Amino acid sequence: MDAADRIYLSPPDMGPDERRLMLDAFDSNWVAPIGPHLGALEAELADVAGVAHAVAVSSGTAALHLALRLLGVGRDDEVLVPTLTFVATANAVTYTGASPVFVDAHRDSWTVDPALVADELDTRARTGRLPAAVVTVDLYGQCADYDPLLEACERHGVPLVEDAAEGLGATYKGRPAGSFGRAAIFSFNGNKIITTGGGGMLVSDDAELVEAARHLATQARDPAPHYEHSTIGYNYRLGNVPAAIGRGQLMHLGEKVARRRAINAAYRRAFEGVPGISFMPEAAYGSSTNWLTVVLVDPDEFGASTSAVRTHLDRHNIEARPAWKPMHLQPVFADAPMRGGQVAEEIFATGLCLPSGSSLTDAELDRVIDTVFTTPGITQQR
Ligand SMILES: *Cc1c(COP(=O)(O)O)cnc(C)c1O
Repeated sequence: MDAADRIYLSPPDMGPDERRLMLDAFDSNWVAPIGPHLGALEAELADVAGVAHAVAVSSGTAALHLALRLLGVGRDDEVLVPTLTFVATANAVTYTGASPVFVDAHRDSWTVDPALVADELDTRARTGRLPAAVVTVDLYGQCADYDPLLEACERHGVPLVEDAAEGLGATYKGRPAGSFGRAAIFSFNGNKIITTGGGGMLVSDDAELVEAARHLATQARDPAPHYEHSTIGYNYRLGNVPAAIGRGQLMHLGEKVARRRAINAAYRRAFEGVPGISFMPEAAYGSSTNWLTVVLVDPDEFGASTSAVRTHLDRHNIEARPAWKPMHLQPVFADAPMRGGQVAEEIFATGLCLPSGSSLTDAELDRVIDTVFTTPGITQQR
């Protein structure tokens, strides 16, 4: 098998603007530590997310850590976290000394169930054990259901942090992902909608919070000619070269999201009416980025299991992945409290992420679809 032939799940999608801006950063010698592209990327991304302020950091995980710390989350606190997510969402909670309490997904959106979150907050309010924060995730590019979530959080005075790592370019009732809650984060990891190789962004309408994050992200150096520190900081700042690449990527965000949505639509057309294949639902309240297209495979109806399809694709040099394994099933979080869990468990049991990168060509898309239809044992051919 030829490595050049391999179709990946969500590879980087670079163009001439990225190359030009990266070379500009290099040639101007603004290679490190900061530089003009960094501030420009922050302003441009804040604009896209519909927020006033942004600080660029080394990863989405770092941005989450900063957001939680700056909202006062600390030792012995608890934070509500969707169980159906990538581990970074829960890991960042533990970095503050707090621990996660997991909440199940809603069947209609796969994002965190707002009724369960509200009920958990109401119950905890009665016993004086409110969590220090609620983190929501714009799962696979679909916004969480923010109206009821924010209503419940505001009623109890609990801050909400939006993990929009997969949601750059999505909307909820016409408002952009990243504009919900006290702060939101984005990821520019290699597999996300846009990439800087590795990086992230913390955004908020709260200027003080973002300034404090900038301070903590640069080793919390106090203003003085010498090195003066009055709190523990981190080395979390993004560099000017990756920021330049990010600006080139952001120029093409609209095309990238449109391509991922077109790929999702093509999969839906190809598998429409095929027994045993269903899709992650797109909630009527918004527009998803379709960061990854996820299907559920019913083995009895389709004639092959999720893992059979995945290994068959792999044998044909196509990368597919199971849906996120819920956090409450992860050995590392075995002792964490959990509300519900059945919906996320069902999604994990039969969910499969198909190649969804914005650089996927129509010919490659056809190859993925044709290959799914040659899985041994299936009941319906193309
Ligand atoms: C990718 C991702 C993160 C972490 O982002 P990094 O930039 O890789 O640290 C956090 N949350 C979710 C939901 C993600 O998909």
